[in-house]
Amino acid sequence: MPEKLDISIVLPIYNEEGNLKELHSKLTESLTKLGLEYEIIAVDDGSKDNSFNVLKELAQSDPKLKVIRFRTNFGQTAAMSAGFHHAKGDVIITMDSDLQNDPADIPRLLEKIDEGYDVVSGWRADRKDKFFSRRLPSIIANKLIVKMTGVKIHDFGCSLKAYKKEIIDNINLYGEMHRFLPALAKWAGANITEIKVQHHPRKYGKSKYGISRTTKVILDLITVKFLLSYSTKPIRFFGYMGLSSGFIGFIICLYLSIGKLFFPSEDTSLIKRMPLLLLGVLLILVGIQLLTMGLLAEIMIRTYYESQKKPIYHIREIIGKE
Ligand code: UDP
Ligand code: MG
Repeated sequence: MPEKLDISIVLPIYNEEGNLKELHSKLTESLTKLGLEYEIIAVDDGSKDNSFNVLKELAQSDPKLKVIRFRTNFGQTAAMSAGFHHAKGDVIITMDSDLQNDPADIPRLLEKIDEGYDVVSGWRADRKDKFFSRRLPSIIANKLIVKMTGVKIHDFGCSLKAYKKEIIDNINLYGEMHRFLPALAKWAGANITEIKVQHHPRKYGKSKYGISRTTKVILDLITVKFLLSYSTKPIRFFGYMGLSSGFIGFIICLYLSIGKLFFPSEDTSLIKRMPLLLLGVLLILVGIQLLTMGLLAEIMIRTYYESQKKPIYHIREIIGKE
């Protein structure tokens, strides 16, 4: 009989040896109080410290703790993705393994899920990290992500979030996309809400990220925006740009031709006309390129959806049909 569980906790772990014992006991305390069936999936993302051995020891005395060990460091997104693939719970809760998130907030996340939301996002309203290198970039990034994706939550970067399993099943993660899970969930049609959660300073171990992730986030954001708006109609994206570029180029060349044909006496020396001619020709070529790129993208998305039998829609429920 397949195991049926209420909750799966997914923990990405990279060099967190000092935090794991306390995290495990706090989680167990908070989850046992709820009286629900749960599992904890710890994904050791190729830690170079003693994390794996600590986990192994903990798992010997706790059958609810499952440990997945990566061969090397594949990153937080990959670790979360592995956890999702192995999770059996109806609700999946992700959190950091460094005790910055507090397991005591889990019951409140679940309350919101019971109210009918598909995704409940934690919001570190009182965040305990450095201001200039961490909180300020994060505030700007969050504002930008809200604007671009239309998902109105305050804290995309907070790992403590709860998801219904069926939403996660519809999302594939790549790169460092875990930050955009709520936006990708919206794409899958999820109802999203947020609650304020506690945040503690890191006691053991070091943060794995710094200011250098800013550009990565911006590039990822462009990808997500494109996926959200155009993934089933790429010709609209490339086509509009291509048509406008081609049109402007056409007008320029038309203007030059009219001058050449009807006003040959005017000064039309090549040197004088050259820059405009170049621009016109360039814009037409770019326009054609973009249009054909859009058409190629249309062929590619057909291959993408049809080869994997992926639907272009997500059903919440069906009434009156087996
Ligand atoms: N993490 C991971 N693989 C990595 C980097 C980080 O699994 O390559 C885990 C890390 O152990 C922690 C979580 O992802 O549980 C968040 O990392 P961290 O606390 O360093 O990020 P911050 O809270 O400083 O943004
Ligand atoms: Mg942290």
